[in-house]
Amino acid sequence: MTQKPGLEVFQFPCRSDNYGLLVFDPVSRKAISIDSPEEMPIIGALESQNLELTHILNTHHHYDHVEANKSLKARFGCQIVGAAADRERIPGMDKGVKEGDVIGFCGHDIHILETSGHTLGHISYWIPDSNLLFTGDTLFSMGCGRLFEGNAEMMWQSLQKIRALPQKTQVYCAHEYTLSNGEFALEIEPGNQALQSRMEQVRELRRNRLPTLPVSLQLELETNPFLRLDSAEIQKNIAMEGAALSEVFSRIRQLKDRF
Ligand SMILES: [Zn+2]
Repeated sequence: MTQKPGLEVFQFPCRSDNYGLLVFDPVSRKAISIDSPEEMPIIGALESQNLELTHILNTHHHYDHVEANKSLKARFGCQIVGAAADRERIPGMDKGVKEGDVIGFCGHDIHILETSGHTLGHISYWIPDSNLLFTGDTLFSMGCGRLFEGNAEMMWQSLQKIRALPQKTQVYCAHEYTLSNGEFALEIEPGNQALQSRMEQVRELRRNRLPTLPVSLQLELETNPFLRLDSAEIQKNIAMEGAALSEVFSRIRQLKDRF
């Protein structure tokens, strides 16, 4: 049996610092939009890449993630998927999903991970056969989302689910926050060589206005302080040696909020 080609991703800027993301089957050219941050750039990307929009998969209900749901649905008749818990908050939602559900798309399985913390209904989408993960506002490169509705314990549980996925997974996030996240990461873990070299790369990319995403989960495990709560250097620098990891998480999140 020959293996199906993996799904591919077209990433493009939307709004001030969001990314639009079209996940597509290279054979049929059918496409999913991860969230719908802004109508015109999404339509432009579909046209330039010759893609047919069949689904919108929403990560959460914030305005900069659902703004074009209704207009894209009216134009393309696409199906809108979101967390069952957020049915009232996600415009035009057709199908509600929860932890452990699997959606089929062009012969590929898309797994739903509940990743609450930034909001209570936040979900992430994992496509194992194509090594793709879409984390919305839960995980950013070298950072994580702010806790608007959930608490530190919830977000830490969510990040542990992500931490357990295969390291070769390519992570796509909803915002380009990498440079400022990395500056904070260097404050609390200055001796991390992987972090130092990632930051050199990131500074160069941003000088040239290039995206720092996607990023491999392996590199995130080596550089993202929110996935490295067990680092002795981090614990020492924030005076929390040997503390429970959920408390270390909470402290780092507070420090980052004030950074
Ligand atoms: Zn958000």
